[in-house]
Amino acid sequence: MVKFALPGAEWSLQFDEAAVSMLQRRMQRWARSKESVGQLFTNDLTASTIVISKATSLKALHASWSTVAFDPFDAMRQRQDLLQEGLYCIGLWHTHPEAVPEPSGCDERLAADHARAATTILNGLAFVIIGNRPFPHGWYVGFHDMNRFLRAEISRL
Ligand SMILES: [Zn+2]
Repeated sequence: MVKFALPGAEWSLQFDEAAVSMLQRRMQRWARSKESVGQLFTNDLTASTIVISKATSLKALHASWSTVAFDPFDAMRQRQDLLQEGLYCIGLWHTHPEAVPEPSGCDERLAADHARAATTILNGLAFVIIGNRPFPHGWYVGFHDMNRFLRAEISRL
């Protein structure tokens, strides 16, 4: 199982198989594909390995090849619904039409807003971008701590 960790952190992040395959299906393989977006959930915030056991979709307000926007109230409703099932939202995912994605300026603002709104034991917001190369090398996995992105590396442990 692939784990991601911030340099020096005592915890790591993992995606279960269902979450990986759900997100891989959203990969933008075609020139006319559009970005998609959703939220990441875990059922245990206290483990030293946080496992993302559910990745959801959010309806895009508008989407193009390289942008996507969603309704924050929709996202809030989804978090409230899943909390009833014991699932905690720890972040966001979206796709990028590039092989090895990096957060854009828009992503920076989006992540900072959501990091401010969310308080988890992670002290930040998990932020995942699905690129065109397969998991795990085509994924950007990081956290936003309200000030900046911290990139998580594939952990050898
Ligand atoms: Zn983006």
